Amino acid sequence: MFKKEYISYFILIVLLLSGCATVTPQSAIPAYSINGATYYPLVSLCDLRGVDIKYDTLIRTVYLDKDTKRVNIRAGDTMVLVNDNIMNLNSPIDIYQGTIVVPKQFKEQIFDILFPQAVSTYRRQARGKINLNKVVIDAGHGGNDPGAIGKNGLREKDVNLDIARRLSDLLRAEGVRTVLTRSSDKFIPLSGRVNIANRSGADLFISLHSNANRSRSLSGFEVYYVAPSISDSKRASMTAKSASLRLKNAVFASNSPDLQAIIWDMIYTNSRAESIDLAHSLCRVMDSSTDANILGVKGARFQVLKGVRTPGVLIEVGFVSNLNEERLLRSSAYRQKLAEGILEGIRGYSQDMDLVEVSAR
Ligand SMILES: [Zn+2]
Repeated sequence: MFKKEYISYFILIVLLLSGCATVTPQSAIPAYSINGATYYPLVSLCDLRGVDIKYDTLIRTVYLDKDTKRVNIRAGDTMVLVNDNIMNLNSPIDIYQGTIVVPKQFKEQIFDILFPQAVSTYRRQARGKINLNKVVIDAGHGGNDPGAIGKNGLREKDVNLDIARRLSDLLRAEGVRTVLTRSSDKFIPLSGRVNIANRSGADLFISLHSNANRSRSLSGFEVYYVAPSISDSKRASMTAKSASLRLKNAVFASNSPDLQAIIWDMIYTNSRAESIDLAHSLCRVMDSSTDANILGVKGARFQVLKGVRTPGVLIEVGFVSNLNEERLLRSSAYRQKLAEGILEGIRGYSQDMDLVEVSAR
C-alpha cells in the first residue's frame, strides 16, 4: 500500500506523452517512433556495446566514451560532437518515457561505426522459454510491518510472501534462478531490499504488494514501473513542463534547472522502457486470465524501486480492503492463479526481447 496522490495526474501526463509516440516491440532494443523518426534508448545502446555514459549537469552534456573515442550530445540538439568534429542530425536527440533517446540516423551513422559490436550474432530463443537468467522477487512488508490489513484480518505481508514463493517455484521450474528479498515473515528495510536486488546481478526485479483503499468498493490489479527518484509532485510538474515543451517542438533547449535535474535523473533511471514493457505485458495477461479489474500501468516513485538498477516493477495484486478481493486473496487457488499470471506476463515480456544481440565484451 502506498500513497497515491498525484498518480492520476501523472497517468494523464503519461498518456499525453505516449500519444505522440508508438512503441515497436519484437526487437533487441526497444524502438520508438517520434514525429515520424525511429528512436532508440541511449542507455540500452550503451549497455549493449559497453560504452560509458557520463552526464555533466552544468552544461547539460552527455559524454559517451569507449577506447579513447568520445561523442558529446545534448537533449534537444541536432548537433553532436564526434571526436571533436561537429556533425548534424536530421532529428534532435530527444527524451521519451523519461529516458534519453537517439534517432536511427545517430545509431547507424555515428554510434554503430564508432562503437561496433565486438563479436556479435543474433540468436533466437526457443519459443516459450523464458529469456532471463535471474529474477529478484520482493515480498512487500513483513515482520512487525504487516502492510495493509483487510476487514476480515487478511494481512498484506502474508499474501505478498505466499505469492512470492509460488512465483519463485514457477520460475525455477522454467530454469530461471530466483532470489527472494525475504523468504520468511521478517522485516527488511527498503534499502536492504534494493541492496539485495543490485547485488544479485538479476535481470528483473519484481516487488509484490497488496493494495488498500478507504473506498472498499475499489478493487483490481495494477503495476507500477520505476520512475525518477524525486517527489511525485515535482515529477508531475516537470513532466508537464517537458510535455508542453515537446509539443512546441522546442524540447529541452532551455537552461532550466528543473530540466537539468530531470535529465540527470533519467540517465540514472536505467532500463525504464523495459520496465514499462513488462508492466504492460503483466496487465495484458491478468486481463485475460482473471476477472480482476485492470487498473493499469502507472509510473510512480516508490522508495523500494528507487535505486534498483535492473528493470523493475511493483505489482499490487489486489485490494485487501475490498471484501470480495480479500476473500479471493485468502484462497491459495487464487494466489496460484496470480503467480501463474505473473509468470505468463514475464514470459510475454521476455519474448518481446526474443531476438537478442549477443556481444562479447
Ligand atoms: Zn504494500
